[in-house]
Amino acid sequence: MTGLVIVGHGTRSAAGVEQFAALVERVRGRGDIGDVEGGFIELSRPPLTDAVGALVARGHRALVALPLVLTGAGHGKGDIPAAMAREQQRHSGLSYRYGRPLGPHPLLHEALEQRIDAALAGTDRAGTWVALVGRGSTDPDANAEVAKVARLLWEGRGYAGVEPGFISLASPSVPAVLERLRRLGARRIVVAPYFLFAGVLPDRIVAQSAEFAAAHPDLDVRVAEVIGDCDALADLVLERYAEALGGDIRMNCDTCAYRVLMPGFADKVGRPQRPHDHPDDPVGHHHHHGHDHHDHAHHDRGSVAVVGGGPGPDDLITVRGKALLDAADVVVVDRLAPQGLLAGLRPDVLVVDAAKVPRGPSVAQEAINEALVSHARAGRRVVRLKGGDPYVFGRGYEEVQACASAGVPVTVVPGVSSALAAPALAGVPVTHRGVAHDVTVVSGHLPPGHPDSLVDWAALARARGTVVLLMAVDTIAKIATVLIEHGRAPETPVLAVQDAGLPAQRSVPARLDEIGAVAAREGVGPPAVFVLGPVVALTTTGPTG
Ligand code: SAH
Repeated sequence: MTGLVIVGHGTRSAAGVEQFAALVERVRGRGDIGDVEGGFIELSRPPLTDAVGALVARGHRALVALPLVLTGAGHGKGDIPAAMAREQQRHSGLSYRYGRPLGPHPLLHEALEQRIDAALAGTDRAGTWVALVGRGSTDPDANAEVAKVARLLWEGRGYAGVEPGFISLASPSVPAVLERLRRLGARRIVVAPYFLFAGVLPDRIVAQSAEFAAAHPDLDVRVAEVIGDCDALADLVLERYAEALGGDIRMNCDTCAYRVLMPGFADKVGRPQRPHDHPDDPVGHHHHHGHDHHDHAHHDRGSVAVVGGGPGPDDLITVRGKALLDAADVVVVDRLAPQGLLAGLRPDVLVVDAAKVPRGPSVAQEAINEALVSHARAGRRVVRLKGGDPYVFGRGYEEVQACASAGVPVTVVPGVSSALAAPALAGVPVTHRGVAHDVTVVSGHLPPGHPDSLVDWAALARARGTVVLLMAVDTIAKIATVLIEHGRAPETPVLAVQDAGLPAQRSVPARLDEIGAVAAREGVGPPAVFVLGPVVALTTTGPTG
């Protein structure tokens, strides 16, 4: 029969190691299974490599590897597969089927119920609240699993309520969930650790519960035992083994942060698992190197995020854009992108100045596209950091198309465009009830009359609302003249806003028929926008200059 290797994370608790060994022995003792070994990926003996080595020595070339984890988090998704990949390098021809995490499963919920009952020692359930305390993870999906188990534990069992909590990395903490239950009116609480075996973290749950109980002598706070070595757990291991043998592995990927964008977890989507620390781990820092990871086919590949950085200052980028930037390996940056953000990058991040890509200006965009694609193909996470919004005169869509046609995963993160932000920062609302009900954003790069121009200047002249001109420093005089020719009032107020959002920000006001001369005399230079229309007369800061 196919050999089974049960893989644990490891613990500094001798009791925890003993419970693991006892469970392996219990599974081995079942008549309905062949060869079984257990090993740890770190901290404890025997190491995984000995367990696999023993099975290989007995002639096994195909194994089931079962991660002994309750939820699908970093250990089950990344570290254990990585350790198994090293075993495959060690033993040529070794193949394995990977089992799914143990929970949630009715057998576990029954085991938890029994541990809670033992703590209650005959006291009634109806007056008992349960705090189900999980390990806590940087993976929101794993934390959500604990919440789900809390709910399943509540269903039909007659407890007053069950609330999830976490000993590390996630909220609510043990004191916080106990306080929550107290405020809900709980007088008796059983803290149930959602842990397989004894360890440093379950010990900490006991200590924190005792501390809370000491501070609240009116409450009856008890702590249940961990699940531990038991028949139910052995049954579950055998069930997961049979599933893996049958190729019936149903990992829940619907809410996996590596696949689905979750607020605050933008750095995970489509990315390989990153090395990470458990900052508050009482056994000391250990970090996991995630060069192998979660079994979604595309995770190892690099990717490109085309990120709008906002008009210039460090803090007008979106939260999502900043998260992607913080996780980037390569940043390809424009001149107008917020330069201050570059100072915050890790020292090992490669920063490519898009303005300095080799080759002539006509092929510069092509060279940028090639750089994005080739870095991503090398497995790197690339951020293309642009000024304002990527799709407002930013050529962002050309880059997205280039990545997509090269088969490179690409996402776009919208940004705060200077078209709207520069007027706002200068005190001009681009719309205002009863004053302007339309705003048109126009490129002034090609002057009116240019054969390649796609702008209907006559229509803009007839419109009554707001016009915002970008890239128009060299063309503003000509544009103003043409707008007046086609009917805009010569006295229409215009405001030039230069270096919006930056320390050098300044505004230069003028009438439409004078803006060309005034901008030239005042030395208005790029980057600047010109905003014109009745809203300019509303400006809160008043005309300057
Ligand atoms: N994608 C950018 C625009 C790129 S085109 C965005 O959404 O903002 C470049 C033009 O943007 C410049 O010529 C200027 O008109 C405008 N611009 C960009 N940053 C600016 C700033 N900080 N202040 C004023 N204008 C700015």
